[in-house]
Amino acid sequence: MKNPIAVKTTAKDLVCGMDVETASAAQHSEHKGHTYYFCGSKCKEKFDLNPAQYLNKSAESSKTGCGCCS
Ligand SMILES: [Zn+2]
Repeated sequence: MKNPIAVKTTAKDLVCGMDVETASAAQHSEHKGHTYYFCGSKCKEKFDLNPAQYLNKSAESSKTGCGCCS
């Protein structure tokens, strides 16, 4: 507990799904008061074009398997 600075913080790149270290993230974008981190400019561009698509995607993935669509 002597060195809290050493704690690494990661955030999920919503576009490709990989974990990005916030301190060294290549790209980040702010949306509705939240900061989102990305592995690179291509993921950031995709997110900026349609943030809702990626934000809803994570919410929807938790309810897959209901079978109502197939
Ligand atoms: Zn990415």
